[in-house]
Amino acid sequence: MTNSLANHMQSTEPHWWIAFVAALLVALAAYRLRALTMDGMVAATLVGGSIVAAAGWWPGVVLVSYVITASALSLYRSQASASVPQVRGKQRDAVQVLANGGIPAALAVVSVFTDSPGPWLVALTASIAGAASDTWGTELGRFSGSRPRLVTTWKPAAAGTSGAISPIGTASSLAGAIAIGLVAGIGYAFGWDVPGITAGGLIAIIALAGFCGSLLDSLLGATVQAGFRCPACDVLTEHRVHACGTPTVRVKGWTWLNNDAVNMLAIAGSATIGLVAATI
Ligand SMILES: [Zn+2]
Repeated sequence: MTNSLANHMQSTEPHWWIAFVAALLVALAAYRLRALTMDGMVAATLVGGSIVAAAGWWPGVVLVSYVITASALSLYRSQASASVPQVRGKQRDAVQVLANGGIPAALAVVSVFTDSPGPWLVALTASIAGAASDTWGTELGRFSGSRPRLVTTWKPAAAGTSGAISPIGTASSLAGAIAIGLVAGIGYAFGWDVPGITAGGLIAIIALAGFCGSLLDSLLGATVQAGFRCPACDVLTEHRVHACGTPTVRVKGWTWLNNDAVNMLAIAGSATIGLVAATI
């Protein structure tokens, strides 16, 4: 049984419908645990199913390890610090799922249609590492004792401000990227076929590309990401309409470049670094 499971994990092309059923079951569990909204569940099924159907089981395992750690850290933080203001809800919707998972899914599909899938599989895993790095840094950074500082001007900022970093948050970002690299490395050791790269090279590139992506996320968050102010409550927010219902006024960045778009750009950055490094 274990042996046949191992053999099955090694085959890179599970039947596509098995991939989507497996993704649906994981997404359904996440929905039941209130980690996903209903439309988030549909998006997660499409993302997870595409990745496993196109790239195999191990990228799926990497994806699930990101989702589980991100949800667990989010839950841990919200329980441990009820007083800390929450910028976003715990349940991820379709837009958030696609902002984090759209690029990995697209890379998985590309890897099917290329003669040298190795670098694309590295880019796929690196992009998941970028998402994990950002999430670990954001969630655990809120436990920082000192006030975070803006990555650009080094001025102290309120906890949870986009583009503000702390030593704990930065170390957590690095840990998140390394964790994803290690999961990919375990997959490699168990026979996940990534042509043209060693296990050590795979882990190092994924960790580095993932961490660089989260740094890019902070940089974009501090500069071009839209920031708004609620005129009624006089607080800064990332939303065009404040939680109190008042339309907000833009105080920085580009109006269309919200947190989800910045996440997606940072993940694209991780993917690009992974692709280039694996090609070289
Ligand atoms: Zn308000």
